[in-house]
Amino acid sequence: MSDLPTSVLNPPARLLLGPGPSPVHPRIYRAMTAPVLGYADPLFYEIMEDTKTLLRYVYNTENALTFPVSGTGTAGMETAIANAVEPGDEVIVGIIGTFGQRLQSIAERHQAVIHTVEVPFGTAIAPEQMEAALKAHPKTKVVMMVHGETSTGVIQPMDEIAKIIKAHGAYLILDTVTSLSGAPVNVDQWGVDFAYSGTQKCLNAPPGLSPFTVSDRGEAMVQARKTPVGVWYLDLAGIRQYWGGGRTYYHTPPTTMIYALREALAVIAEEGLENRFARHARNAQALHAGLQAMGLSLLVKDASIRLPSLTTVNIPEGVDDAKLREVMRDQLNIDIAGGQGLLAGKIWRIGLMGYGSSSANVYSFLTTLHQALALQNHKTDLGAGLAASGAILGN
Ligand code: PLP
Repeated sequence: MSDLPTSVLNPPARLLLGPGPSPVHPRIYRAMTAPVLGYADPLFYEIMEDTKTLLRYVYNTENALTFPVSGTGTAGMETAIANAVEPGDEVIVGIIGTFGQRLQSIAERHQAVIHTVEVPFGTAIAPEQMEAALKAHPKTKVVMMVHGETSTGVIQPMDEIAKIIKAHGAYLILDTVTSLSGAPVNVDQWGVDFAYSGTQKCLNAPPGLSPFTVSDRGEAMVQARKTPVGVWYLDLAGIRQYWGGGRTYYHTPPTTMIYALREALAVIAEEGLENRFARHARNAQALHAGLQAMGLSLLVKDASIRLPSLTTVNIPEGVDDAKLREVMRDQLNIDIAGGQGLLAGKIWRIGLMGYGSSSANVYSFLTTLHQALALQNHKTDLGAGLAASGAILGN
């Protein structure tokens, strides 16, 4: 047995400035070392209730059924679709990047009849495009959209589109994985019926839970289904027995991750959502200004739809994408990501999420990128970049 790995686990503390996981806040690491309670311990119920209350705050909702799905963001995605869609239901999927494509793949597995509204990556869906699709497909039961598209760095404006979807009587599933607590997510105001997120983005907990909320109307629709939900583990009727207040065991809650989420949400409430949004917007603008002043260009041309938590930078001609990211990670200790799907090899994805959205990280990232590009003989004007960021950050 001498070849079994028995050394003490010792991963390095990298600065995570990619699309998630994001840097874990120290308060959250501390919470994760707290003793594990039993799933039926009244003290654990208190922690669950705090988590639900805080989740309603970040989602801006009064929805009764608001809880974390066990699993990463995709588990929330699958919960929404598995519960909202019955075989043969017509749905419209808004595709502004690869996570819209994932919504489509999951909806296919649940045998939806799919219509899509697709736009070039780096842009958002216009209200008229959604209106036209709803008129063309009047039997549409559910519309699925991504609010913060992590593959392109676009934030999909929701105010007008949500009104149109409601006016047509369709249910709305909204992916808020990369937007929740980094930009306003107004579940009740927009009339979102199912929203899900992930713990490893702007919430700064490790990956492992998918915060979820369902409107009363959405719950009533699920209760009126003619066919059982195809995924037992994610059936809202079962999950409600435990998280809804009845406290009947369904599946064991991942205790330590729930501690992490509870603490993450408490950190957010302490800062206040408005302050948090302003901080994300300011640091993102400083990053954008700095990158452009250095001579680099951004994928998303329209500044009004740039996602504050995730920036996409075009890779300059002649620069080796994989090599640069390797140097950034292994020599300079900063983790960023490349593009996905059609954008692979074309862009880098830089996350300033939650605790990671700081002026210090803007300056560190610009300096490190300058250095990594210089190693490939690609010159950038770091002085101009830092000055442009500083003009926004005021320091
Ligand atoms: N939706 C969006 C917008 C995402 O960015 C991600 C992950 O990056 C997901 C869904 C899927 O989440 P996970 O990878 O946590 O399952």
